[in-house]
Amino acid sequence: MKITDVRWTPAFIPIEAPLRYAFGSHPGFSRIVIEVETDEGIIGLGECYSGASRIGQLQEMKPLLIGEDPFKLERIRWKLAAPTALKLFGHVLGFAGLEFALLDIQGKALGRPVCDLIGGAVRDEVPFSAYLFYRYPNTQGAGEVSNTEQMVQFATDLVKRYGFESIKYKNGVFPPDEEIETFIALRKAFPRHRIRLDPNAAWSVTTAIRVARRLHDYDVEYLEDPVWGFRAMERVNAKAPWITLASNMSIFAFEDLAPAVMSNVLDVVLLDPHWYGGIHRAKLAGQICEAMGVDVGMHSGAEFGISQMAMIHLAAALPNLTLAPDSHYHHLTDDIIEGGKLQYRNGKMAVPTTPGLGVSLDRDKLAKYSELAKRQEMGSWIEDPKHPGVITHQPKW
Ligand SMILES: [Mg+2]
Repeated sequence: MKITDVRWTPAFIPIEAPLRYAFGSHPGFSRIVIEVETDEGIIGLGECYSGASRIGQLQEMKPLLIGEDPFKLERIRWKLAAPTALKLFGHVLGFAGLEFALLDIQGKALGRPVCDLIGGAVRDEVPFSAYLFYRYPNTQGAGEVSNTEQMVQFATDLVKRYGFESIKYKNGVFPPDEEIETFIALRKAFPRHRIRLDPNAAWSVTTAIRVARRLHDYDVEYLEDPVWGFRAMERVNAKAPWITLASNMSIFAFEDLAPAVMSNVLDVVLLDPHWYGGIHRAKLAGQICEAMGVDVGMHSGAEFGISQMAMIHLAAALPNLTLAPDSHYHHLTDDIIEGGKLQYRNGKMAVPTTPGLGVSLDRDKLAKYSELAKRQEMGSWIEDPKHPGVITHQPKW
């Protein structure tokens, strides 16, 4: 089998209400949908982060992929995304989206789900966390989350609607004292849920240590990237050793894993099949964590259904995934896959048993949302629409 064509379509899907985080706001989710075609008529689906730089990556990689056998993943990795090239030129996100499509092709050709190509599923369903964000009101004036009461109500609604058993509280938006109070209110409202928090490295080391002290008795599942950088994380761990530290930002590359563990920088690695260069590479990173005795969870970066499935297949085949993956998926109002949005049952999504990733494109939806993508200004999410021109410094507090 040979690859004959590679196509991509940027798309933008609206969300229930704009999500706020430490540096700005997401008005909706922008992604690039990738299709890789073969001479046997099989089309593989992939998905990656949006933006002109990712489109540039795909443009550069396309001619290198044409004529290759989609089963020869290692050859393709060294041709398109060798470690030196990744470090110097950063093709990792575009490459990951292509890798999903190649695995989709392999699964379709063999009649097996993608998880069977990476060791096989050890679980039938994957639990996800309720991803809580502060939100601006939407265009109908609904959905605002700006204080403790609204955040607890938002969590209550999500848990009731989807059945989540763990909760992620995205903070770093309001001053830490306010967010500490909100965490404590969530803990009281959900005494049996696991609750994690993630200020996206918006705090200084001293602020992070103060927050860790204040939350000492409130059963934090983990504190994700309180500060920016390897050494800063190490200092938080040294001064607040009781708090479980997780990272997808300060530590996220293969080269970081061993030094981070040897230096007691973190307890939980949040894998991501996009950031680790594909499903295969993320599985390998997970197994390195297994060997080093580090717990594994999963980061989410505002995925559509294709990437959501990539995460589900990876999670299905990672025995040491003990922490529910994060997912932005429940914020979406729609999806570009046939059959509409993927469904949660008791806070979990089923691992597909159909060939490949287990999703197909709804071409009408893709056309509709690619039109919306043309109207979106790139990079808008790193600014706050309520405070145009203001760029957030780090640490923020
Ligand atoms: Mg994070």
